[in-house]
Amino acid sequence: MTQSLPKQGESRDRIMETLAEFRHDDLDWKSGRTYGFVYDPGNDAVEIGKEAYALYLTENGLDPTSFPSLMRLENEVIAIARARASGSPDVVGTFTSGGTESIMLAVKSAREEAFGRGISIPEMVLPVTAHAAFHKAAAYLGVRPIVLAVDEESFLPDPASFAKAVTDKTILLVASAPSYAHGVIDPIEEIATIARDRHILCHVDACVGGFLLPWFRELGAEIPPYDFSVEGVTSLSMDLHKYAFTPKGASVILYREASLRARQIFACASWTGYSVVNTAVQSSKTGGPLAAAYAVLHRMGERGYRKLVEILKETTDRMIQGIEAIPSLRILGRPAMCLFSFAAEGVDVFRIADEMKKRHWYVQPQLARGGSPPSIHLTLGPTNAPLVDAFLADLRKSVEAASSSPPAEIPPEITAALASINDGLDGMGLNDNGLGNDRSDDGGLDDEAALFSGLMQAAGIENGRLPDELAPLNGLLNSLPPALVERLLIAFMNQAFR
Ligand SMILES: *Cc1c(COP(=O)(O)O)cnc(C)c1O
Repeated sequence: MTQSLPKQGESRDRIMETLAEFRHDDLDWKSGRTYGFVYDPGNDAVEIGKEAYALYLTENGLDPTSFPSLMRLENEVIAIARARASGSPDVVGTFTSGGTESIMLAVKSAREEAFGRGISIPEMVLPVTAHAAFHKAAAYLGVRPIVLAVDEESFLPDPASFAKAVTDKTILLVASAPSYAHGVIDPIEEIATIARDRHILCHVDACVGGFLLPWFRELGAEIPPYDFSVEGVTSLSMDLHKYAFTPKGASVILYREASLRARQIFACASWTGYSVVNTAVQSSKTGGPLAAAYAVLHRMGERGYRKLVEILKETTDRMIQGIEAIPSLRILGRPAMCLFSFAAEGVDVFRIADEMKKRHWYVQPQLARGGSPPSIHLTLGPTNAPLVDAFLADLRKSVEAASSSPPAEIPPEITAALASINDGLDGMGLNDNGLGNDRSDDGGLDDEAALFSGLMQAAGIENGRLPDELAPLNGLLNSLPPALVERLLIAFMNQAFR
């Protein structure tokens, strides 16, 4: 490992070789054997995205009056997103670095609105299936998340539970179109009606699906109204770097009215330097992702996207049929588009994931939370399409292999390490309702680091590297209270990055 700057500049070849070498263990997303992380529209669109990104890499989005082309690009990209979300010309938006930033800004705007109404600790109501980014926004912005349970078959929240959860401190109701974990669409019309009747805001998280859903509907999928066509929906987030297939660093946050978006914008004229006004979180920022988004959207066009949706829809149908034909597996809920998850009866689903990895397929394990059983999540992309039969054949083999191997046992060292952590954390008041409504943050982090470090060692985790067999670790995480898992994850990252 290089410990410091080289004395003398290295050759270009050397640097590029080194970088290529560093990538050796990275996920091979071009193989079509991964389900998530990278949304690949094919070489042609990837190349134009790279070119546009490079062209704008050094332009600075800090000040759109100095780089008017960036303002123009943003307005044009927002116009496309607005049309995808059935927005009237009054709908305004901001280009952001990703879904998390879009969501944080929506929560920030709602919080400012609440401050304007004299609410000091505002509450937002969200189903347990809403993306973790809302919890992050809550933690960063001092908003209290009120988490609702969902039905254990459909994974949808009961609209009545929103009505019950609203208090005079509530500022925002949250719904997903669709949710990440199960790919199902919340009852948005009902939820937005409650928001409108109570004069509070309603955000639709269409980060993953917002861009493609209209084409799925066009091709016959059953998609209930979820966007600005629904009265009461006041903001909507839509990632471009997911199913618009643009390079990473691209999402939009849309608002029904400019007056609400004004709450998102930050200005500072009280320091000694230049006047600051930022629409989003970052200040100095590359124009790369914005230009790349513009380029890919225009290269693909309506036709290009519709063609991909045809492929994705057909692939999803075949995958779901194939998975349901395997006796011990079942699809969770009724997925709306091309991401979904499945659970296993009588087989350790985390072992299935390990077996798939041995066969060079990357699938995403999900812990049991909020009534959802332990499961495997698949986000489909066009590159997965030619491999449906191969995937299903290996999935059948993996289920068999996982069923015939003995259940994952938690090594005694881990049980011992856990016991000492439990002693150490006793009285920390870890809340175990599985909904994460109460986060107590009074633990002594230094003692904790030592305890967790022992646990990680026992679990075979070293320097940010995970063991090959993850089933025992996933089984362990699955059995622990969410608050403890969160602390463990923090300890892991804190150790992995020096
Ligand atoms: C991915 C995702 C997010 C978060 O987006 P990032 O781009 O990863 O920050 C939020 N909501 C949903 C439904 C998502 O799928």
